[in-house]
Amino acid sequence: MIVAMYSGGAASHVACMRLKPDVLLFADTGEEHLTLYESIEIGSKKLGVPLVKVGVKGGMDEVINYHRSLPTSMISFCSIDLKVKPCFAWLKENAPNAQIIIGYTWDELARVKKTKEKYAEKGYEALFPLTERPYVSHQEAVQIYSDEVGVQPLYERGFPHNNCGGACVKAGISQWKRLLEVDSERFEKWKERESRISALHGKTCTILKRYGKPYPLAKLEEDVKSNIELPFSEWGGCSCFTEGEPNNE
Ligand code: SF4
Repeated sequence: MIVAMYSGGAASHVACMRLKPDVLLFADTGEEHLTLYESIEIGSKKLGVPLVKVGVKGGMDEVINYHRSLPTSMISFCSIDLKVKPCFAWLKENAPNAQIIIGYTWDELARVKKTKEKYAEKGYEALFPLTERPYVSHQEAVQIYSDEVGVQPLYERGFPHNNCGGACVKAGISQWKRLLEVDSERFEKWKERESRISALHGKTCTILKRYGKPYPLAKLEEDVKSNIELPFSEWGGCSCFTEGEPNNE
């Protein structure tokens, strides 16, 4: 059986256009942009491949409460708990020894070897259709996905990835600033999560750091309002559900 890790991102869909899987496996964090939820249904119909959704009841807040801390770029337990574990539990039960499609593009070749090894340790063969000729860059994949499934607001608004509504704990200051500009409600939700965990521990707990120190979202908001100069290229990488993580099953 061929199973695609179908995130709702452009590359995972385009990879499935090249190599048709038997199942699209989607891990629902409960945090995705509404358009993404519609798009995965459209994508499934267009590809003619059934969509299987896995997830954790209570989503992000549930895992934050369980860990009594915030996920960060260093300890992204959200990715492990909300994506890796549910997907590998499903695979173990429904598709042992499956081949797994992963939507790395040719510019992510450096990640292929490690990912392949990690999946092999679990008895799965990882396949990377977009790392083979004809090469497709991430930007080209975004265009193909938009034409095929519909325009994704996050890509349109300059977010490099279509994950967690643009509020990724692995992202940098520039992305969180963009989130504040385009989705203040979602930004506010994360600000509240920071306040809640900080209050719980009696110290400042943050997703971001600046100059090596905790940088609360509330302070970022203040800095934006005060026109303080902020980094414009610190987007960070959304390496969610990547090469090292199957081991955390
Ligand atoms: S996209 Fe970012 S915030 Fe969402 S689960 Fe993955 S690492 Fe966590």
